[in-house]
Amino acid sequence: MRYEMMLPYQIRTAIAENWPVVLPLGVLEYHGEHMAVGMDTLAVIKALELLEGEMDLVILPPFYYGAASYAVEPPEGNGSVHVDAGKLFPFAQELFKGLLRVGFRNIHFFIHHQTENYSAGMPTDLAFKFGARQAVFEFLEKERGEGWWGNEKMADYYASQASATDPFNWIKGHPLLRPEALRHYPFDHAGEGETSLMLALCPEAVEMERLGEARWYTSSAREASAETGARGRDLILTHLRETLAKR
Ligand SMILES: [Zn+2]
Repeated sequence: MRYEMMLPYQIRTAIAENWPVVLPLGVLEYHGEHMAVGMDTLAVIKALELLEGEMDLVILPPFYYGAASYAVEPPEGNGSVHVDAGKLFPFAQELFKGLLRVGFRNIHFFIHHQTENYSAGMPTDLAFKFGARQAVFEFLEKERGEGWWGNEKMADYYASQASATDPFNWIKGHPLLRPEALRHYPFDHAGEGETSLMLALCPEAVEMERLGEARWYTSSAREASAETGARGRDLILTHLRETLAKR
């Protein structure tokens, strides 16, 4: 369900049944002459929309205004919109605190931008990860008071780290394509991998005839096809299903 369309009784059901609450996180960034600037975010949204048909899921309004950077092209006339990660962090912290206050304890964000080395992190995902951690600490201290972790009730903390009751599992961030998937699918920027993915998930975001004089990073886009994209889509859906499975 789309969060903005939910009525309070539906929100209370989602909380009681611990539905996954998912934020599509991304950027607006130049993706060659042949593809829409929202590609990274659209990929997350479209994949979640497919998943929505098969499981209980809350999809939050997407956040497009990440740290795109101007590493690929300058923004003038090209379309990238960069918001500094230092400004994203307080926003993320407040957003996650707000979602915890509503009552959600199964919150996730998925991101596709600059996630080729996700475990090390890049500005947008690090800002949201940092915001999530700070939100959890702040929330717990307010709810349970100082010394909450040292309390006897937390004696099973290390034993239950993998479980949903561990507060540090309340908010998690994930790449759209996990490392295992990257062994079977080309990861690139506006090349064959991303262009194919858009052809499969959101074909209206691609105009192949615009490709023309390609940059190094778009040269492989000529090989793009909806069939290749469908393979990527299926890898993504498997990952989403496993990650968001009931816990
Ligand atoms: Zn991209």
